[in-house]
Amino acid sequence: MTDTNQERTEDDKAAFLEQLRSSIGGAVNAPLPARDAVNQAMIRHWSDAMTDFNPVYLDADHAAKSAHGDIVAPPAMLNAWGMPGLVPPEAASKQPGVQVYADLDAAGYTSVVATNSEHTYNRYLKLGELVHGSMSVVDVTAEKKTALGIGHFVTTRTEYTTASGEVIGAMTFRILKFKPGTGRMAQVADSDGTATPRTGRPKPGVSRDNRFFWDGIAEGELRIQKCDCGALHHPPMVRCPKCGAYDLGYVVASGRGKVYSHVEPVHPKARAFDYPLVVALIELEEGTRLLSNLVNLDEDQIKIGMDVEVVIQDCNGVELPVFRPVRPPRNETTLRFADVEVGDTLAPCPIPITPTLIVSTAIASRDYQDVHHDRDLAIKRGSPDIFMNILTSSGLSSRFVTDWAGPDAILKDLKIQLGVPNYPYDAMTMTGEVTSRTAGDNGGTVEVTIRGYNRMGNHLTGSISLDLPA
Ligand code: ZN
Repeated sequence: MTDTNQERTEDDKAAFLEQLRSSIGGAVNAPLPARDAVNQAMIRHWSDAMTDFNPVYLDADHAAKSAHGDIVAPPAMLNAWGMPGLVPPEAASKQPGVQVYADLDAAGYTSVVATNSEHTYNRYLKLGELVHGSMSVVDVTAEKKTALGIGHFVTTRTEYTTASGEVIGAMTFRILKFKPGTGRMAQVADSDGTATPRTGRPKPGVSRDNRFFWDGIAEGELRIQKCDCGALHHPPMVRCPKCGAYDLGYVVASGRGKVYSHVEPVHPKARAFDYPLVVALIELEEGTRLLSNLVNLDEDQIKIGMDVEVVIQDCNGVELPVFRPVRPPRNETTLRFADVEVGDTLAPCPIPITPTLIVSTAIASRDYQDVHHDRDLAIKRGSPDIFMNILTSSGLSSRFVTDWAGPDAILKDLKIQLGVPNYPYDAMTMTGEVTSRTAGDNGGTVEVTIRGYNRMGNHLTGSISLDLPA
């Protein structure tokens, strides 16, 4: 009897998969126009949310003198133009992929998470152009057991054209449609994968001599003891070792410094600390050193002498000053192809993951999936909190690479694969390395391999190809 049930279940599964796969390679619908032509308002909203202030997207005078000759849309917005929005037009429900999604929803695979996005750009879009998307289903996998839950991966390909039919780009997109509550993630509340609560971090001993320091932390300041003779001391002392004075004041440090040395204790693990734990000696720009932690960096992303800045954050129950890399400034002059070598690395870029970032970027990319803005519904769907959408992961990757390459760099493709989610109150550090270089007629193309790392691991891995001028 059990065998029969089992057989029937397997038969049902096979029939269901056949139904899902019936749309593969089917006729592609007539190109579906975006709701709005490429416009400055949506670009500005995107740029603000992503903090991507490349002037070719925003400044008409600059854009006129650029390689583009006019304002262009950020290339990573490719699929944002055609997003259905909060109240989808009826035509959106007639796309072939949507039937697969509806069938999966009806069978209980109601949760969705995007896992891969690959863009290719034939050229950038200009203001006033109306993007049309033609989507086709490329693949539907058999049911798979994943950390998120039991589900099917669905791969689609969308070709983007202008009103006149010119192909301006394409996207291959992979999502997991899964049954909520069937994965490991749903049961795990703690980032280290255990349900046992951690013990709190040891509380600092506060005395008359160091109270100014902890008062400063409460105020969001890093205060360093300073004597009238000019000497700086940390940790605070009773008496100046240089001149012997007892009456000591302080200066508010800028919070900027460099990594002087670091060590990573691995064993035995103390439950009061979050791991990986990087203990670092920071040389502050004021000229003294401070023992602290480096956060949001994987071991191989840390370099002696790298620029870091303080962030005061809750470290398992205690507000402490810790350090993370400094966001590199946007390059205003475009790199030349000859200036770039294979093996060049991009300065690490920290991206604090705030609820505002997650929500504003989701809306700027016209992604109204509730898991990106509604915490209660996200929790109900088995996620510990809201999380970043994949268009934002693409947008931030594009920003990271173009801020390094400069405004006249032209993206040719952008490929990312997602790992662990970006939840609020974490930070992702982007790193990149030039992995190939191909000379062209005028300059050439370089490929940058990228990674975005948060405290749970890699949020994204991928690559971006871009043309650089000669
Ligand atoms: Zn002194």
